[in-house]
Amino acid sequence: MSIETATGVTVVTHPLVQHKLSYLRDKDTPTVHFRKLANELTLLLTYEATKDFPTEPDEIETPLERMEVRRIAGKKVAVCPVLRAGLGMLDGVLSLVSSARVGFIGLYRDEETLQPVEYYVKLPELGDGERDAIVLDPMLATGRSSAAAVTAVKQAGARSVTLVCLVAAPEGIDHMQSEHPDVRIVTAAIDRELNERGYILPGLGDAGDRLYGTK
Ligand code: URA
Repeated sequence: MSIETATGVTVVTHPLVQHKLSYLRDKDTPTVHFRKLANELTLLLTYEATKDFPTEPDEIETPLERMEVRRIAGKKVAVCPVLRAGLGMLDGVLSLVSSARVGFIGLYRDEETLQPVEYYVKLPELGDGERDAIVLDPMLATGRSSAAAVTAVKQAGARSVTLVCLVAAPEGIDHMQSEHPDVRIVTAAIDRELNERGYILPGLGDAGDRLYGTK
């Protein structure tokens, strides 16, 4: 259950997604629950994000007879969380796409310039142009770090890139679409705006701090 906005962003409106998101946003939700909810929410978003994966026929034998089945075509998908908050979404994807390859993109946001600074990139083999990538970044805020992560994944050769986030701001969507118009964005919500520190309003606060109990 989802809607496609005028700008082509997929917002997953399924009641379970909206229910879980409401707890994720609540400032009184403790770290232990926040972590679980972030993964559950990501699992549900992944279901939507993978809905157009191509399938191909195969043949198997049930205990009773042979039959034609459909299986996902092509090379295994690469899932690339943006450190550190994107790590809080990884298990959610892997519980659905267990054979995915995993890449890590270490970026932090310089709190003064709001620019992403790359400190670690380790990606699986993507260079054959046959692998689809899912980039995980919970908060599409200014969009700068998500866009930088997408650039890294594209440079490594991914065939297509889908960004899965929990909450997006209009500013982040605009930035991503101007830098990477071909990237599909799947999110649980599009919020109102960014504040002067680059936080999403109403948002859910600092996703990394809430996932890992830091401040
Ligand atoms: N990163 C976060 O964790 N939260 C925001 O609101 C914006 C960026």
